[in-house]
Amino acid sequence: MASLVHAALTMRKTVRASFGLLVCFVFALVPLLGVFRTSSPGPVAIGVEHVVVGLAWAAWLVWRGSQRLRRDEQAVSGVTHRERLALELELGVLLIAGVHAIVQATGGIEGPVYAMVYVLVAFIAAFAAAPIGAILVLVAIAYEALVWLTTERSVSIERLAIHGVFIAFFGVLNLVFTRVEIARVRERSRKERDEERARVEADVRLFRLVGAPSVESTEGSGDKVVRSSVDEVRDSLFHVLDLLKKTLDLHTCILLFAGEDKRLRIIEMATDSDDVDEGPFEVGAGAVGAVATRGVVMNLENLKSGYRGLCYYREGTSQARSFLGVPVVEQGQLRGALCADRLDGRPFTAREEEILKSAVGQVLRGIQNERVFVQLERSKREQGQLFKASRELGAALTEDEVLDAGLSAAAALARFDFAAVTFFDAEKRLHSVRTARGTGADVVRGTSFKDNHSLAAMVVKNKHYLPYKGELDPKQVLFTAKTPLPAMRSALVIPLIVREGAMGTLVVGAERASAFGDSVRSALQVLGNQLAIALSNARAVKRLEEMATTDGLTGCLNKRAFLEELEAKIRSAQRFQKKVSLIVTDIDFFKSVNDTYGHATGDVVIKELGAILMRVKRETDRVARFGGEEFCVLCEETDTEGATLLAERVREELGKTVFQTELGKLRVAASLGVATFPEDASSSAGLFEITDKALYAAKHSGRDRVCTAKDV
Ligand code: GH3
Ligand code: MG
Ligand code: MG
Repeated sequence: MASLVHAALTMRKTVRASFGLLVCFVFALVPLLGVFRTSSPGPVAIGVEHVVVGLAWAAWLVWRGSQRLRRDEQAVSGVTHRERLALELELGVLLIAGVHAIVQATGGIEGPVYAMVYVLVAFIAAFAAAPIGAILVLVAIAYEALVWLTTERSVSIERLAIHGVFIAFFGVLNLVFTRVEIARVRERSRKERDEERARVEADVRLFRLVGAPSVESTEGSGDKVVRSSVDEVRDSLFHVLDLLKKTLDLHTCILLFAGEDKRLRIIEMATDSDDVDEGPFEVGAGAVGAVATRGVVMNLENLKSGYRGLCYYREGTSQARSFLGVPVVEQGQLRGALCADRLDGRPFTAREEEILKSAVGQVLRGIQNERVFVQLERSKREQGQLFKASRELGAALTEDEVLDAGLSAAAALARFDFAAVTFFDAEKRLHSVRTARGTGADVVRGTSFKDNHSLAAMVVKNKHYLPYKGELDPKQVLFTAKTPLPAMRSALVIPLIVREGAMGTLVVGAERASAFGDSVRSALQVLGNQLAIALSNARAVKRLEEMATTDGLTGCLNKRAFLEELEAKIRSAQRFQKKVSLIVTDIDFFKSVNDTYGHATGDVVIKELGAILMRVKRETDRVARFGGEEFCVLCEETDTEGATLLAERVREELGKTVFQTELGKLRVAASLGVATFPEDASSSAGLFEITDKALYAAKHSGRDRVCTAKDV
């Protein structure tokens, strides 16, 4: 049904597109037929036919043009893109034909308005999509050749060639210009975006809004929080500085911080001056430097015009007569300077000094508030991620699902290049990389390693994360030196702890340094705990499932699971007209084995028969312990002959087996019955019945043999 609708839609689209091209072709023919040709030099005498054709052309052009514009708004899927190109081609041809009609009506190619063709070509080359623009330039040249041939009184190859060259020239020039311009604009906006990002990053570092670099890492929403915080900080700073400027009659009030490179950067300012430099400024120079590097208060008066000590003015442009600078000290650390200056020469009083100092406190409090806000936002986001992770881990049932959900959650919490989960088998004292993602994942996935000195092994042993602070020493190995991973400067190996022991580790690694800061680590540790619980639940579920389908003594299928399997196999054999054979085995005189050698020995014999069956069966065969010392084998796509061969092998293998008991050596034999669906029975119940009968036939005819339905 859906494909019918699709076909109908596609046909409609094709018809509509070819109809458009047809109409376009008809309009293009009109000038070629000379409808607008003048018989004498000068404009054509306008007749009804000209008006009708002109109006129809205009209406069609407007309609198709509006469709072209609408396509722009639609999603750019492959089909609409092709449609758009076709429409552009159509519109281009329509315009070329229209302009030629006008040229024809006003005296022909040699007439006064021929230059319109060049203007049109320039327009088309600039606005049409790249391939269409080039095609239309060629169309314009070809069309003009046709016009010469069909309507001009005499064909001038020379003139045609000149026109052709000019058309190509206009086209190519515009094509190149517009592409270059587009590339230029793109480059500029990319640069602006980069600059904006760099500015925000620099501000973030200056304000210390983000403690651990790894946190910038996490997705977009985190970035937005940081950006808005930077804006908030700046807004409130400007407010304080502007207030100071107004109340203290300042010319400039400016806050400067020392960056990591020890140069002073303007954080915010309120000023009437046009001469403030952008910075950054070398510290050490002048009054501002003294405040910012030595932490002294500078109160200067009677400054000369052009004084060079105020580094924030362009050299020699300072008009300030008095200056006051107070250091900005945060938690005992000198961060920068808050400076104020006046033009009128009024010296700064002690009270004004106090005001400026308390303003510094105000500024720092604002920044600290934002820091707390960013921290809160970050932990809120992390909690959200952990909540989501715990929901997804809870919903995952199998080990694979849990691991997948776990690594996805880790990816939402930390930006890593590599991640893995290792398991530890305490019995074999062997670690294995159960799953891995990212660079180098294919090399290590599925590998195992001894209880060595690797980080993963140490973490399992000590149940404590490694390496210290997440900084990976080149000498440290995550798993084993035999399977080297790409060089990583950061890593975290987190223990997966259930009850007292560590079942394995969650590992993340990154090429960059300091990728996993304190907050990321604590979030990953919480995730590690959730992951460990989800994994041990998944294992418990798997064990329960196994218990529900297998026999405890032998590990073969149990009766219920076997019957389900047999039912399904018979149904599929029925549908595909295949054969299914059933073998039933029963140990001979088993009661006396129990009686003579004891129940425990009997169990050993039962277990051994189970092992023999599992060993000799083919991969697709299914073996079940049906009760007591009876076993069944289900053989897919096997006839009686094949199943009998298998039964004989089982009988021989059991016969060869010697059991060592306290009362000496013991050998046992078994009788087996074989029957096949569909020739011996038409249902699973019937198949059981006839196989049982074959078994009894074996018992009655002397035991230690195989009988089939034929012997019944
Ligand atoms: P036959 O040759 O006719 O099969 O003689 P048999 O003695 O083997 O008779 P039957 O197959 O009826 O004997 C079943 C015996 O298997 C009865 C019971 O004592 C023993 N049995 C059933 N389940 C177990 C078990 O789990 N462990 C042990 N050791 N013996 C079992
Ligand atoms: Mg029995
Ligand atoms: Mg028996």
